[in-house]
Amino acid sequence: MRAVMVTPGVKDSLRLVDDAPEPPESEGPVLVEALAVGICGTDREIIAAEYGEAPPGSDGLVLGHESLGRVLEDPTGTLRPGDLVAGIVRRPDPVPCPNCAVGEWDMCRNGRYTEHGIKAAPGFARERWRMAPDCLVRLDPGLGGCGVLLEPTSVVAKAWEHIDRIGGRARWEPRTALVTGTGPIGLLAALLATQRGLDLHVLARSTEGLKPQLVAELGGQYHSGSVLDLDFQPDVVVECTGVDTVVLDVLRTVAPDGVVCLTGVGSGRSRDGVDTTVFARDLVLGNNAVFGSVNANRRHWAQAAEALGRADAGWLSRMITSRYPLEDYARAYDGTGGGDIKVVLEFAAGG
Ligand code: BGC
Repeated sequence: MRAVMVTPGVKDSLRLVDDAPEPPESEGPVLVEALAVGICGTDREIIAAEYGEAPPGSDGLVLGHESLGRVLEDPTGTLRPGDLVAGIVRRPDPVPCPNCAVGEWDMCRNGRYTEHGIKAAPGFARERWRMAPDCLVRLDPGLGGCGVLLEPTSVVAKAWEHIDRIGGRARWEPRTALVTGTGPIGLLAALLATQRGLDLHVLARSTEGLKPQLVAELGGQYHSGSVLDLDFQPDVVVECTGVDTVVLDVLRTVAPDGVVCLTGVGSGRSRDGVDTTVFARDLVLGNNAVFGSVNANRRHWAQAAEALGRADAGWLSRMITSRYPLEDYARAYDGTGGGDIKVVLEFAAGG
């Protein structure tokens, strides 16, 4: 069968193979037909040999961690043939650490977790894959092809859950949310902000086009320019750019008792001249909490499925700006399109 693969650590080793083995039963009893995979910055980092790890004993890694598939068979009877499903990305570490032991693998303590399509476990960019039923999330059939957004939504659902938990350290009645960045994570964070009844502000670079339009349709206010020019102090910031100046500026701007959640990893550049008063004075005197958030556990996947179910299907489908058939995988992963929000690689019609 066909699969999109890379050799981790070898730059530009992206390839479509047509002799990938059928998924072994050891991967799980549920056989799933791939409909689509979503593509994100992590895939591009793996292709650039900056990230990613092949499964033990192999050089090659099947890409794809944002999945949408259709169940072909489930001998356990948990799922029915035809069910739309997505596969949970992270698997607990084998020790397991105290968090993985209780299903909080997104908070793994020892780094020995695996991630499908990213770290030491095969991904979903292959025509068929197998999973255990409890590693699959069933999707509302009405979501159709938008179900491929479940994985990035799970990441955002976790971020919001932790924002609430951290905010809840004292009386917590947030009103205003600022999201920085309008990639898929930024827009989905914005969607969940409105679902929580918060006043939404989004700040990003584009001044026109689809991204500001999608923010307006959520009832949010769109800003471009510097965070420091905003004329309000957000109670919550979900930072999705990873750009160092934006990170520092939101730390300065957040309201007293406010929470800043960092989701973007940025370019890894470090800058001289970081203004340490932001840490030593502003954060302390503002009782601010800043935290990083990655990945999601089963609870967050369920929250994400619920959030997508409540969202406007037309709005969601416009977030998917390009769909490529499998043969065009190289263009799909190219990522130089610029104006794209979510790019999807389709395995079968209807993906
Ligand atoms: C994925 C997460 C994963 C993270 C780090 C992200 O792109 O969405 O599930 O934990 O990469 O590997």
